[in-house]
Amino acid sequence: MGWIDSHCHLDFDEFENLPDLYSNLIKSGCTGILVPAISAQYFPRLLAFKKQFAKPNTEFVNIALGLHPYFLADHKEQHLHVLDEYITKARPLAVGEIGLDFALDIQSQDSQLWWFENQVQLAINHQLPLVVHCRKAHDQVASVLRRLKFKHGGIIHAFSGSVQQAQNYLQLGFVLGLGGALTYDRAQAMHKMIKTLPNEAYVLETDSPDMAPAFARHETNSPLNIPRIAQYIADLRGESMQQIYTYSTQNFKRIMKLAD
Ligand SMILES: [Zn+2]
Repeated sequence: MGWIDSHCHLDFDEFENLPDLYSNLIKSGCTGILVPAISAQYFPRLLAFKKQFAKPNTEFVNIALGLHPYFLADHKEQHLHVLDEYITKARPLAVGEIGLDFALDIQSQDSQLWWFENQVQLAINHQLPLVVHCRKAHDQVASVLRRLKFKHGGIIHAFSGSVQQAQNYLQLGFVLGLGGALTYDRAQAMHKMIKTLPNEAYVLETDSPDMAPAFARHETNSPLNIPRIAQYIADLRGESMQQIYTYSTQNFKRIMKLAD
């Protein structure tokens, strides 16, 4: 079975030679990618990217649409409306990437919560799963999901939290995105957490072009790094790479309601 990069930003300018990248992805066993949006300005170019990148394999590029907490300064209230219309028109797999980043300045937290809650509500209206960005706010994310009785699941992207936080998300119907951060020797707590996860709990991701793994820390990150990340997880869990591909792909399809 091949693999899926559940979180990469291949629509960003860092990626220049897209035809080469696509053919290298196919060669290395990639069967699909999910590209989430970060702000309303990116919606049109993301849709154009989806049409162009893997032509004529239209299933290869999946998209999520949402307003990222990093880019609060770019979001205007009417963008919620724009997002609603784009979801109806473009039928993305998920709403994202949205979330809470409490590593950013404390003054932005109320505003971040407003955008997060409103977009979770939009996902409820459209019955879509989420792609969630969360730093230093796992309890707050979980409490919003509980308060709004969110039932459509999703991915907690770049998860590096505790075993307990992982369990909380699994109970809420989410899976955890595992990526480059786990390839660093200093990520000992993360390694322990990954060993405890059930097979149904995770998907693979790069977050490229950001979050370069340890073995490529001075390069532009790309989904081509997934096999080495998967090998790392396989070694941690005492499983084969093929098992990691199989579970992560099944989990992605289940969470994103794609046919097998
Ligand atoms: Zn991202």
